[in-house]
Amino acid sequence: MSVSGLCSICQTREAQARCDQCGTMVCAQHYDESLGYCADCAAEASSGGRTF
Ligand SMILES: [Zn+2]
Ligand SMILES: [Zn+2]
Repeated sequence: MSVSGLCSICQTREAQARCDQCGTMVCAQHYDESLGYCADCAAEASSGGRTF
């Protein structure tokens, strides 16, 4: 696997996944696997109260 860069949120761990929503690269700790979103988008999605 090729990993380029650090997590955009914590900037300390290696990015391991890409957010489906905003496309930013984040580490496993800041990636919500159930949503496929980064921590930022996951927080927005869970607090937004939008229904699809
Ligand atoms: Zn991180
Ligand atoms: Zn995101």
